[in-house]
Amino acid sequence: MGINRLSKLRPVIAQQGLDALLVSKTENCRYLSGFSGEGHLLISPDRAVLAADFRYLEQAKKEAPDFNIARTKGDLAQWLPRLTSEFGWRKLGFEANTLTFAAYGQLNEKITAEKIKLELVPTTNLVENLRSVKEKRELKLITKAVELTDAAFIRAKSGIRPGITEKQAAWEIEKYLREGGSDGIAFDVIVASGPNSALPHAKPTERVIRPGEPVIIDMGARLDGYCSDFSRTLFFGKPDKTFVAIYNIVLKAQLTAIGEIRTGMKASEADQLARDIIEQAGYGNAFGHGLGHGVGLEVHESPAIGPASQDSLADGMVFTLEPGIYIPGWGGVRIEDMVSLKEGRVRVLTGTEKEMEVIK
Ligand code: ZN
Repeated sequence: MGINRLSKLRPVIAQQGLDALLVSKTENCRYLSGFSGEGHLLISPDRAVLAADFRYLEQAKKEAPDFNIARTKGDLAQWLPRLTSEFGWRKLGFEANTLTFAAYGQLNEKITAEKIKLELVPTTNLVENLRSVKEKRELKLITKAVELTDAAFIRAKSGIRPGITEKQAAWEIEKYLREGGSDGIAFDVIVASGPNSALPHAKPTERVIRPGEPVIIDMGARLDGYCSDFSRTLFFGKPDKTFVAIYNIVLKAQLTAIGEIRTGMKASEADQLARDIIEQAGYGNAFGHGLGHGVGLEVHESPAIGPASQDSLADGMVFTLEPGIYIPGWGGVRIEDMVSLKEGRVRVLTGTEKEMEVIK
């Protein structure tokens, strides 16, 4: 696993004119090496080093057999410059979105104080871009996480009723995710009822779910590090005209995106397919987030599918399609599926129905 992914990363490091790359982001380390603990990787054309402290040495040897393990003590500044000098590296890339300002400062101080010839070069998304296109093995794990989410939702739905609080409903869901085999949850479960459902990232509260209002449920499982992400909007009692209208607009926006997104499209164009439907219905301002996001080792990763995205869509990518309409004071509707791109088109991974149903 590690070897294949390293062979994709090494040409990227060379293109950047770097001697090596310091990988600090946990998910990137895991992706490249298999190691799921805390540590750093150093990757050059001929070296693959996993640097970890005493606590993680046994785990590192077990999980990352393709890597040489370097035992570290203290922070980066204490061991990194010595190691890079030993390897003769002069230009070292680092992950600018992950390495902290403090760690960078300490490293630079050390390099200057000891007159070490090492240039630190900021990089972004080198490993993330590789991660956005999934291998078969990864797609299998994601599909399992998605199936587990579908199953947990069906079980939880029968227990979510008017009269229980958002927090109680969220706990039901979490319980079923765990009982179904999820390694924890991908993110805190969202149950947002009535006006709370107008907040796309609401936290469950003590509010009691009542009939006659929308309830947004957003949940995800995690399996061997891989996440799923899923939302449905429920309505207890007979839906009013507003809910029916808004629900059907959101559904149409999502189905349009599923039907018309193609491999090779810009992610911003994909977003526009759904946004057009919502804008034409007069709710353009009520869809304030992007259409979706990549999902993998992180619940939000590349590609970003939104109006400002610079990403392009490729076969093998896995992402969400989750249009929504949010009306302050009233509530919201969001329908979120996980999909993959295969042979140019969208394949829906999520199995749960999304036609509006009246729950009595
Ligand atoms: Zn999402």
